[in-house]
Amino acid sequence: MSNVTVCVRFRPLSQKERKANGDRVCFKRLDSESFVFKDEREDDVIFSFDKVFYEDAEQSDVYNFIAVPIVADAINGINGTVITYGQTGAGKTYSMEGPSILHCNKQKTGLLQRVVDELFQCLQSSESLDMWSVKLSMVEIYLEKVRDLLDLSKDNLQIKESKTQGIYISGATEISIMNNSDALERLSEGIANRAVGETQMNLASSRSHCLYIFSVQHGSTDERVTAGKIILVDLAGSEKVEKTGAEGRVLDEAKTINKSLSALGNVINALTTGKPNHVPYRDSKLTRILQDALGGNSRSALLCCCSPSASNAPESLSTLRFGTRTKLIKTAPKSIPAEVDSVKKPILDPHDQNYLRDRIL
Ligand code: ADP
Ligand code: MG
Repeated sequence: MSNVTVCVRFRPLSQKERKANGDRVCFKRLDSESFVFKDEREDDVIFSFDKVFYEDAEQSDVYNFIAVPIVADAINGINGTVITYGQTGAGKTYSMEGPSILHCNKQKTGLLQRVVDELFQCLQSSESLDMWSVKLSMVEIYLEKVRDLLDLSKDNLQIKESKTQGIYISGATEISIMNNSDALERLSEGIANRAVGETQMNLASSRSHCLYIFSVQHGSTDERVTAGKIILVDLAGSEKVEKTGAEGRVLDEAKTINKSLSALGNVINALTTGKPNHVPYRDSKLTRILQDALGGNSRSALLCCCSPSASNAPESLSTLRFGTRTKLIKTAPKSIPAEVDSVKKPILDPHDQNYLRDRIL
């Protein structure tokens, strides 16, 4: 059994926050794992997590701590999931994509691009590269429908379960990605296909959940098997949507997003309060897809993104409470199933200390 890794990231204060509230922040740094949370309306609270990334943390710090072990494990047949959670504007997409998926300097590239780089670097160091392939799927959950971001004609995909694949999205387009630049091009096409573009003023893009799924496969063309899967999830904003003024589609959106995020909260509560037989995974598309990540065969990490501003303290507090609860979940990631193991052994050994050290330095 292992715990879900839960980290917190405070982004720098935005100009808008500085203008409106000055430099008042909602936390006082203790060390790299804990801080005192300060909310004017409540007593100070100390929070501790597996790691806290403060405003001076680099994208590489986040990647090295959260994703390096997950990528290494995926090659060895253990599924991995990284979820970003937090209110709109807290830094979820920045952590996942960087300031822009295609055009940003190397230092600022997000988890997505770093995962791709790492996968290819690692596979290229294998003697039999032709035995490996990486496939990408991208879907968005919007108004409780799963839309294929790599083929917009598929706008209501179904979620299924099989013995060999576990939970999967039936019919989702899977494209083979050949190298880093190919992957980035496909990722940016998918991002451009999201229901509402990032640039639109009403921030509706933050009302959908976006899932990037990488399958690492190995074997010859006839005997190709999935080794491990990595799912990266950029969740919709967790803020309480104002009821006043919302109408029509906006109101529908607000209700369904609340539904899938509150379903996520309910699943986490059920998993951590000793009721593992009554976990309501089926209450939303999101929780169904994340069933393996939260309750099964996956190594999972949650990045709780928070604004540092005192003015956002109530939403940050709710994000931190969500993280604290999630920290109690235990999962049981397993290696490649026996029948798969007998077909082809992975050639790389990502658990080798030198391998990990080389990657981290
Ligand atoms: P979310 O996806 O949670 O709604 P974004 O990732 O889009 O939020 O971040 C909101 C704004 O803050 C963006 O302009 C983004 O570039 C900026 N930002 C977020 N995190 C950081 C960070 N760690 N460093 C610098 N800027 C950041
Ligand atoms: Mg976002």
